[in-house]
Amino acid sequence: MMLLEHDAKVLLSKFGVPIPFGFLTEHADIALTSGMPCFIKAQVPVGGRGKAGGVVLVNSVEEANRELKRLLGNKLKGHQVRGCRLEAPSGGVECYISLMLDAARGRIAVLISESGGVDIEEQSTAGKVKQAYAGFDAKSVADTIATLARDMAPANRSAIIDASSSLVQAFFDLELTLVEINPLFVRDDGTWLAGDAKLVADDNAIERQPLLLQLLKERGHAYPEAALKIDHGFDFVRLDEDGDVGLLTTGAGLSMQLVDELSRKGCRPFNFCDIRTGQFRGEPTRLIQTIRWIGEGKSVKVILMNFFAGVTDLGELSKLFLAAREQTADIKIPIVIRLIGNGLETAISNLSAADASLVVETDLDKAVDRVVSIATAPAFKRG
Ligand code: GDP
Ligand code: MN
Repeated sequence: MMLLEHDAKVLLSKFGVPIPFGFLTEHADIALTSGMPCFIKAQVPVGGRGKAGGVVLVNSVEEANRELKRLLGNKLKGHQVRGCRLEAPSGGVECYISLMLDAARGRIAVLISESGGVDIEEQSTAGKVKQAYAGFDAKSVADTIATLARDMAPANRSAIIDASSSLVQAFFDLELTLVEINPLFVRDDGTWLAGDAKLVADDNAIERQPLLLQLLKERGHAYPEAALKIDHGFDFVRLDEDGDVGLLTTGAGLSMQLVDELSRKGCRPFNFCDIRTGQFRGEPTRLIQTIRWIGEGKSVKVILMNFFAGVTDLGELSKLFLAAREQTADIKIPIVIRLIGNGLETAISNLSAADASLVVETDLDKAVDRVVSIATAPAFKRG
């Protein structure tokens, strides 16, 4: 999970990272009275906001409200802007630091530079970013940074060394896979401020990270998918708000394969889903929730349900599905059902007894083809 800049900054400040004064707003019409000039920064989980018009300096209250109105509720680099951070401008030399987990090497990639900012990629090509791998402990990171920063200007070197000690603590304590500060503003006297913060948490570690759990509890709406996984224990990821196919599927690998295959065949999958049939505990809750979420997709024309049952009994599952369908009767999206595994016969008879239109397909290719033909049919109108 990549944190939004605002949340990353607030979190890092708990580890001693100095951040510019600022606050988050989700409304464009806030009554500002002073504090100009200030930066308005769109909160989307992606870099390069500056170049895309998502970071702007405003000089008056009117301009601030106008920029907020332009950004909030609209898309920036493919992401919905749900919030903006208003921030006091800070000055200084734009430096750069990042710590990134290299899982394959079991090491931490350390990158630092005295020429940070929006053109960091070019600076890197120009050889102005120093890189080395550190061992998986704070001392090794500190030693690596000290060596890399050896030839830097004294103020920059001391700021980067100071920053790294707080950042490495956050990196380990929060089980991050990436922490990046760009720009890291350094003043002449070596004091510094995090101008931007990019922080990526390991999705599988969130459950045991109190600060991240608290963030999801308080700001779940800003991280809908991560919040879902924590609250409901399964994966549901919205891929394309205008998608035409909803997936009610289990198995992460198989579901991803279906997303790829449907895309190749000209469809636009609305979501990814790994519903984990083994954990239903006799309740249709997950099925109901998933059908409801898919129903929120205004362009979804068909749902592909694909359950490959190993441990799960399809006879039981079919009953849960019928219960879920009854409770989501208002969502009139056709469902193509593909089932294979234990209790298939019982499932088929349960489903057809309840509704003759519920035809079970056992061949996955055929099920996909039916989905494709419904999704790509020209004059479709959802009832
Ligand atoms: P990004 O483009 O998504 O990485 O967003 P940043 O937060 O890094 O902002 C982009 C650029 O805006 C930075 O590299 C700075 O050059 C500039 N910027 C952002 N905040 C400030 C600030 O407080 N003071 C100054 N002088 N420049 C800033
Ligand atoms: Mn940046």
